[in-house]
Amino acid sequence: MDYFLYRDGVLHAEDVPLPQIAAGVGTPFYVYSTATLVRHYRLFKDALEGLPNLVCYAMKSNSNQAVIKLLADLGAGMDVVSGGEYLRARAAGVPGNRIVFSGVGKTRSEMELALDGGIRQVNLESEPEMNMLSRVATAMGVTVPVTIRVNPNVDAGTHAKIATGTSGNKFGIPIARASAAYALAASLPGLEVIGIDVHIGSQLTELAPFEVAYGKVADLTRTLRAEGHRIERLDLGGGLGIPYAHLNKTPPVPAEYGALIKRTVGNLDVEVEVEPGRLISGNAGLLVASVIYMKRGEGRDFLILDAAMNDLIRPALYDAHHDIIPVMEAPAGVNHQPYDIVGPVCESGDTFARGYPMPPLAPGDSVAFRSAGAYGAVMSSEYNTRPLIPEVLVKDDHFAIIRPRPTLDEIIGRDIVPDWL
Ligand SMILES: *Cc1c(COP(=O)(O)O)cnc(C)c1O
Repeated sequence: MDYFLYRDGVLHAEDVPLPQIAAGVGTPFYVYSTATLVRHYRLFKDALEGLPNLVCYAMKSNSNQAVIKLLADLGAGMDVVSGGEYLRARAAGVPGNRIVFSGVGKTRSEMELALDGGIRQVNLESEPEMNMLSRVATAMGVTVPVTIRVNPNVDAGTHAKIATGTSGNKFGIPIARASAAYALAASLPGLEVIGIDVHIGSQLTELAPFEVAYGKVADLTRTLRAEGHRIERLDLGGGLGIPYAHLNKTPPVPAEYGALIKRTVGNLDVEVEVEPGRLISGNAGLLVASVIYMKRGEGRDFLILDAAMNDLIRPALYDAHHDIIPVMEAPAGVNHQPYDIVGPVCESGDTFARGYPMPPLAPGDSVAFRSAGAYGAVMSSEYNTRPLIPEVLVKDDHFAIIRPRPTLDEIIGRDIVPDWL
């Protein structure tokens, strides 16, 4: 459930009519709903009730500091995957002891940043990375809590570009090698082994792969304890999917996911961490765009929008589907016509949807892409010298610009033409 509903025929974000935001910031823009973000975070908290836990929001899904602060104020931890995200979390006021550091290629300077500012744990992904972190920690005279991310070789049944838990991809240490990897980590100075980490992929729409993976983690917990390791924390990753189209079958809800966690690892006397990104931010955001032209093609008509693949790359990158709805609700019974909905970028991949039924629209009319709060703004670029679009946060009947649209002068002014040209 979200807080983007029609009222008197006008799409609102909470109590704010979208045309009011459009008049203030211009289209295209991203808009996020505070109530929806809060609701999604609480779903996870409630689902894990009874287990010691920390919900670490995967910042990479939407890392605007306003979103980070909002969630951190509710008690959320953060899952960061770069030094930049670490500093962003700190800038938004998140204490180091609520930040976990994930990622397959943490550099020496990123490790130094995190150890200097304080970190809850580092999730290690390879033996060379272990050695590097040990060197960094000893040089700084600190001991850092670590888990090892294991790759359980489980097919997450998701798009190949966002599956991470099979042996064919770059993530984690093969679970068969876990004992040796833990022995190495335990022998290295500056590292304190405290748990196990796993993350099998994103946009999972079934619970079965989680069940298999967490079952393997439970077995590994017993094995590693028997080998003398202290396993007191399990980081179970993120990845719970959301429905991108209203016609789709609905993915499992956090309550079912929480019950699965309790069933698989609940009796191990561990603290549990989860790292949801998409499920918290995805349906908490819309991308709002306007029609520039309606163009007749041969056998198909095009709606050309002022938003493009540089603003929302998911359809081009993952063949992702987003529901697209008019900001002014179509009157009941009005005829819908199929359109190819595209942006102005000079690539055929700049297509949001094909043959998509829309009511009659005229240039200047606005549409909203649903489920655009995750992996939208954070993956945007200035391709075609198109400015990054503004982000807006709504709460009740007011809104704030949480990232302004840069001017073209700012963008163009960043280039440096060497004086020998
Ligand atoms: C991407 C990622 C997540 C979040 O995935 P979602 O599908 O957005 O929930 C969590 N943990 C790690 C390590 C990730 O790489």
